[in-house]
Amino acid sequence: MPVSQSPSFRGHEQVVFCYDIEVGLKAIIAIHDTTLGPALGGLRMWNYTSEIDALEDVLRLSRGMTYKAAMANLEYGGGKAVIIGDPKTEKTEALLERFGEFVDGLGGRYITAEDVGTSTRDLAVVRRRTNHAAGFDDGGSGDPSPVTAWGVFHGIRAAVAERLRRSTLAGTVVAVQGLGHVGQQLLRFLDEAGAELVVSDIDPERVAQAVARHGATPMTPREIYDARADVFAPCALGAVLNDETIPRLRVAVVAGAANNQLAEDRHGTILAERDILYAPDYVINAGGIININYEGPGYDAQAAMDHAAGIHATLAELFDLSERRRAPTNLVADKMAEARIMTAKTARRETALELAS
Ligand code: NAD
Repeated sequence: MPVSQSPSFRGHEQVVFCYDIEVGLKAIIAIHDTTLGPALGGLRMWNYTSEIDALEDVLRLSRGMTYKAAMANLEYGGGKAVIIGDPKTEKTEALLERFGEFVDGLGGRYITAEDVGTSTRDLAVVRRRTNHAAGFDDGGSGDPSPVTAWGVFHGIRAAVAERLRRSTLAGTVVAVQGLGHVGQQLLRFLDEAGAELVVSDIDPERVAQAVARHGATPMTPREIYDARADVFAPCALGAVLNDETIPRLRVAVVAGAANNQLAEDRHGTILAERDILYAPDYVINAGGIININYEGPGYDAQAAMDHAAGIHATLAELFDLSERRRAPTNLVADKMAEARIMTAKTARRETALELAS
């Protein structure tokens, strides 16, 4: 099948298939759009059942990165890379170094980072062969989770202000699904703001810790969708908003860190029909790439946190537009991101014309 005819192809600028039989590397790098800057996006290693599946994933994820960067006001475009293989058994230093050479061959059009199946340690190996990699512990921006959680916290504030007309989170009941890197930080911010917490995780130790530290009410992973709360904050898995779960929700707002929360785009419409305000995932969870933006020897954690707090204003604008257009928030977010990219494209064209005249 021609790449341009895959269901997830949306005018991607460049798609590179990287192959080296000697080290067992099969990877795809997709650059969706570089209007706003070099394409930034993580390197995922996954045991895809076919190359077609890997292609679909990388095309879909790279486009998502374009939109995420645009909505976070970053001068980055969208890209992503996938390595086909089992990260537990097939990841070697030779494979990662070879991948780094392919990234380097793109001359900075694509900047790689960690993602599912890769770690900052793996990225340090990739970096032996290219400078176009970001998100390191040593001298880089390090763990993005605190900044992501801070952005999500401000996103929840914006959604609660919009839907519940409350200027603080004091007394607001928030059900957090997933108490990992982001979820635990988020609990801390919510607790400090006086929110009441309901929590769920498949790891009972994490739940017990949240109960002890924050006085949270525990629920099982199955029950969490039925929680009587103001906000449901998915911070674990994708596709948790689907035909089975949405009818069960008893909340006014869905706002959390997880990527790809909607099983399908139409679930954004179903949430709106149920009068549940949805904070689009790629807008509210942009803290991770915002953090990378501040990477460098003089990494400024406070500047990254302040930038992530700006997610409040972005969401407030988005909610307002969604209300005025009577359109679901996920679709309005896509339109806003496209408009930002189009404005940059037009400005660039006008500058080129001016220089030519
Ligand atoms: P993590 O792996 O540290 O934590 C995920 C948590 O979810 C774990 O505690 C896990 O036990 C729990 N979990 C798994 N299945 C569950 C279930 N069915 N019910 C309840 N809990 C379950 O991941 P993280 O870094 O905290 O990221 C959380 C989500 O946010 C992911 O979807 C990730 O893609 C997204 N995200 C993270 C960042 C970041 O900076 N870390 C940035 C953007 C988006």
